[in-house]
Amino acid sequence: MSTESLGRMNSLLIRGGHVVDPVVGLDARADVLVDDGRIVAVGRLDRSASRTVDADGLVVAPGLIDVHVHLREPGFTEKETIATGSLAAAAGGYTTVFCMPNTSPALDSVAALRSLEATVRRDALIRVHPIAAITKGRRGKEAVDFDELAAAGAVGFSDDGDSTADSGIMRAALAATRRHGRPVMTHCEDRGLTGGAMHEGDISQTLNIVGIPPEAEEIVIARDLALARLTGGWLHLCHISIGTGVDLLRRFKAEGTRATGEAMPHHLTMTDAWVAGSRRLVNVDEPESADGIPADPNTKVNPPLRPDADTVALLEGVRDGTIDLVATDHAPHAEPEKAGTPFARAGFGMIGSEFALPLALALVRAGHFSLPKAIDLMSSAPARLWGLPTGRLTPGAPADLVLFDPNERWTVRRETIRSKSCNTPLLGMTLQGKVKRTFLAGEERYADD
Ligand SMILES: [Zn+2]
Repeated sequence: MSTESLGRMNSLLIRGGHVVDPVVGLDARADVLVDDGRIVAVGRLDRSASRTVDADGLVVAPGLIDVHVHLREPGFTEKETIATGSLAAAAGGYTTVFCMPNTSPALDSVAALRSLEATVRRDALIRVHPIAAITKGRRGKEAVDFDELAAAGAVGFSDDGDSTADSGIMRAALAATRRHGRPVMTHCEDRGLTGGAMHEGDISQTLNIVGIPPEAEEIVIARDLALARLTGGWLHLCHISIGTGVDLLRRFKAEGTRATGEAMPHHLTMTDAWVAGSRRLVNVDEPESADGIPADPNTKVNPPLRPDADTVALLEGVRDGTIDLVATDHAPHAEPEKAGTPFARAGFGMIGSEFALPLALALVRAGHFSLPKAIDLMSSAPARLWGLPTGRLTPGAPADLVLFDPNERWTVRRETIRSKSCNTPLLGMTLQGKVKRTFLAGEERYADD
């Protein structure tokens, strides 16, 4: 048997889909041919393959890339594991995720990265890359060895869940990015202003819940941008939730500071009114949903859901390129830390992997940005920034693909959530846009049948 025919045994033809590749500006009906795990050709192809998938009515796009998830393993496997978190991601159309280091032990040593790597090799359905901690044990006192961890595969550095309060450590972390090329990914929240459970404003007052002022985020965004300017290092601002944060990032970018930023679907489509019970998605034209209960712990997230004006400013930042990408901050929590706990003491975070694409598609339908822009924000842009070979459908690229039906409507139910946790305020709501198949290097890793 020739090498060529051997290769063809692994070939895959995805026929007649609406193919979107922001990298080459493709947004048209086409076929995609895959062989030996790589893209071979895209276009109107008169070819056969060992497997053919009919993609009529489906969008075919590069597999999504999420640079901000919490997979909870090791240490918190009652919330999520590499196996369940990667399945949830694959079900959401993701083929690559970057996992945050707030595990137990924290990802702060080469040994911790090696151990995670072994679990990923054994259990992960998709590509999982670790983000290492900035400080040992995430305690904010002593910097990790940035160069050693970057060499061991860390794709970034973050004490996410907390800010790194010590500006000297942040300066060193940012300076180190100039050597190893991986960003410092910051959770911006001033420690002296924490202690609240939701956005501080009229609604927190009405509900009598202690608030977190937006200044808690603004102060640290401003500090970290200033340190990025000082060092020339690469700063990536995680989950920007405030309009003033977008303004700061825009200004520093214009001055040449090397900074990037991400927004989350929940900060673009939900407001602090959700904590009071609203379930109206903002900035989109979706049917009304019945209200939820006030102070539902599933609406508690950090940074918190903000007022309308912030969601509008974030969207403007996405449209004008100030915000580079959309990630999820997928943050699973088991039932006892959410439903079973009063709002003030409940854990922060919501799951997001399985809902990000439908929420982004709702923003596309509302006219905020195009479908190729949505795919760019959720795949091509992170690939470009981190220098990954994916996020594109060009010949030779790894065949990481998502096929989704942009029209199918489905209801979020506990029974169908793939994550080990169900902490989302979207429970019971109907979304539009459903992932049908996810391929990793040409291998099917998820199918909605
Ligand atoms: Zn965070």
